[in-house]
Amino acid sequence: MLSSSSLPCRTPSLVPNPNPNPNPNRSLLLLRPHGRCCRRGAPPVLAMDAAQPFDFESRASDLLERQSKLKIAIVGFGNFGQFLARTFARQGHTLLAHSRSDHSAAAASVGAAFFRDPHDLCECHPDVVLLATSILSAERVLRSLPLQRLRRSTLFVDVLSVKEFPKNLFLQLLPPHFDILCTHPMFGPESAKDGWAGLPFVYDKVRLADADDRLDRCANFLDIFSREGCRMVEMPCGEHDEIAAGIQFLTHTVGRVLAKLDLKPTPIDTKGYEMLLKLVENTCSDSFDLYNGLFMYNKNSTELLERLDVAFDSLKKELFGRLHDRLRKQLFESSQSLTGS
Ligand code: NAP
Repeated sequence: MLSSSSLPCRTPSLVPNPNPNPNPNRSLLLLRPHGRCCRRGAPPVLAMDAAQPFDFESRASDLLERQSKLKIAIVGFGNFGQFLARTFARQGHTLLAHSRSDHSAAAASVGAAFFRDPHDLCECHPDVVLLATSILSAERVLRSLPLQRLRRSTLFVDVLSVKEFPKNLFLQLLPPHFDILCTHPMFGPESAKDGWAGLPFVYDKVRLADADDRLDRCANFLDIFSREGCRMVEMPCGEHDEIAAGIQFLTHTVGRVLAKLDLKPTPIDTKGYEMLLKLVENTCSDSFDLYNGLFMYNKNSTELLERLDVAFDSLKKELFGRLHDRLRKQLFESSQSLTGS
């Protein structure tokens, strides 16, 4: 496979070969880095109106397409890792997978190679290592990877539902020669079962070396999501966590509170009640570890829980206050009618 980081040139520009191709297996396109010709054999092309083979354009786009393909190692091949892998595979990326449990059958079903041993995984020199483990296990899993076996230019990406925590973890544990991209696809197997179009994808380019091939590789990774129609939102990790507590942790908390009521469908369900049942289904299909991670590893979640408590108390006070007023009025009215005053 032609991986972005194994290309001979940075930011290739396409140069047509003026000679009819004597060998159909040899590419008609040659790569030129920043204007310097790196072509071997054929003379340099000076005019863009030189005769071109009839399928020049399709070969050019095929080559560009192949150059954008990545070798992605998914670390944590559970519910969400497998969900992402299906789209990565459909887009033609090469997939490797590693997880605590044996997910080799699930990996095989999307054409991914499964590695029980992280040493074997890292020795395959992926372009991208994608951390998709639970929030709670992320540090342990990251520490278990033999980083010295990876290429020094590897791009590390995470998809954890909190962002400050993995950002700090990566900055703390990864040597400075690795690139870092923190992301949060804000959808999952349940909410995106009909596709990713229009769904938000948050990302923060935490650390990228200033080299064309490494910037291109990051762009190619992000392009996986934009191709699917995701709404791409570049945002600092801290800002993500602030907002996510108010929307995602709130949604999961309300869903899980309702689940404790053991709600059931009835013959007279309203649209609103049906939405509540759907909310319970959507939130409780994620693991409790995920929910717990949203609480433990986002400092804004505690405040959100407290605000929920205050809001619930204030609503109860309002209801009981009105009830109290009504009862007192009735009591006075009945005592007045008894005394005849
Ligand atoms: P999860 O319960 O958060 O994570 C399950 C994954 O974590 C599995 O790969 C599991 O490995 C691994 N894991 C759990 N405990 C472990 C331990 N002690 N040691 C090593 N590995 C451990 O569920 P998930 O839905 O698959 O989410 C994965 C990540 O994606 C999380 O960080 C989550 O925040 C993020 N995310 C999820 C969604 C979603 O909708 N589900 C959306 C966006 C982001 P094994 O399966 O091999 O045991």
